[in-house]
Amino acid sequence: MTEKQDLQKHQLSLGVVLKRALKLRCPLCGEGKLFEGYFRMPERCKGCNLKYEEAPGYFLGSTYINYGLTITLTTVSYIWLHFIVGIKRDTLIPFYVIFIILFALFFFRYARSFWLAIDKWLSSLGPQNIPGDDIED
Ligand SMILES: [Zn+2]
Repeated sequence: MTEKQDLQKHQLSLGVVLKRALKLRCPLCGEGKLFEGYFRMPERCKGCNLKYEEAPGYFLGSTYINYGLTITLTTVSYIWLHFIVGIKRDTLIPFYVIFIILFALFFFRYARSFWLAIDKWLSSLGPQNIPGDDIED
């Protein structure tokens, strides 16, 4: 049985996998930690043996989550602080340069965690529920 078929046997709820992602735990069992250090991930879950990085570049998609949230927070707060509160641009720019760097580093682990959780949740739905996902691999 492949890992994908095994996932389809245990249909995961979106709420459960998102809670596990917030705790930086394995989306499948909720036991194994996703990170051993701040940036280093183990190859497999210690609880269920799920392989975290399925292929080289698997976590590239997590950068879109990180980038999207960072830019959304920056844009919304800039518009509010500059146009409504009235803080000058020259005052805000240095703050945002530091904020963008620190927030992206802080959110790195959560972006990977959410990416993995959403991928495993979608895989658990099975091919009958995902249009175009009927190709065997
Ligand atoms: Zn696990």
